[in-house]
Amino acid sequence: MPLSALEPARSALLLDMDGTLLDIAPTPDLVRVAPGLTDALSRLRDAMGGALAVVTGRPIEQVDGLFADVPYAVAGEHGGAIRPAPGAEVVRASLPSPPVEWVMEAARIADAHPGVLLEQKQRGFVLHYRAVPHLGPALRTAALALIAPQADRFQLMEALMAWEIRPRGADKGSAVQELMTEAPFAGRQPIFIGDDVTDEDGMRAARALGGAGLRVDEWFGNPAGVRAWLARAAADPRAWPPLPIQASAQPTAAATVLPPR
Ligand SMILES: [Mg+2]
Repeated sequence: MPLSALEPARSALLLDMDGTLLDIAPTPDLVRVAPGLTDALSRLRDAMGGALAVVTGRPIEQVDGLFADVPYAVAGEHGGAIRPAPGAEVVRASLPSPPVEWVMEAARIADAHPGVLLEQKQRGFVLHYRAVPHLGPALRTAALALIAPQADRFQLMEALMAWEIRPRGADKGSAVQELMTEAPFAGRQPIFIGDDVTDEDGMRAARALGGAGLRVDEWFGNPAGVRAWLARAAADPRAWPPLPIQASAQPTAAATVLPPR
């Protein structure tokens, strides 16, 4: 469904976080929420009867740390954990956790290669190589070798300058489907916005439910473009602002990635 055919009053927004709402930072803990973003999201949530969710690969607690109670629902860990409403219990898909030896081996690799960062998650882990891009291919090979004996249960996902090992069985597509079954999302047309490979599942699910799946680079240019579009929508939620967003609408200062001081 083209965006122009969707109305905010009948839509749900499902938003990836890193690289979509937030600029990518040198390490995941250095991201910052741009001024005005939470305000725009709160207004949009209210304009959509609450139907605003963050759908991310990160744990739900990290979303809470950045956005507090702004999203009505949060899907974390690529759909492995879903909190369908504020204060509701987190629903966890029954998925396997990777063997502890894998995590130990990943820690050994990170120790042996300064600049490689190991991020542990409840049911998986990520090897970041943003600081050492030339190690990307070697890390991929090492990660694939790790999971090879259980390739039916675990998969290697490409993220931005990172490789993530996680269980099969949940993804952002299943998260979208799940969220859309319950109020205030049910019956609305989902708009999923995301920037990377793992978001493609979410986009497909949103389109299949009569909504739209929008890639950041294609429609917004970058996260600053997403934020500019959200701010315009929040200012006048009678219709979705047109896309692709014009470059002039993007606040260039906010596009600069700066670690917090
Ligand atoms: Mg992303």
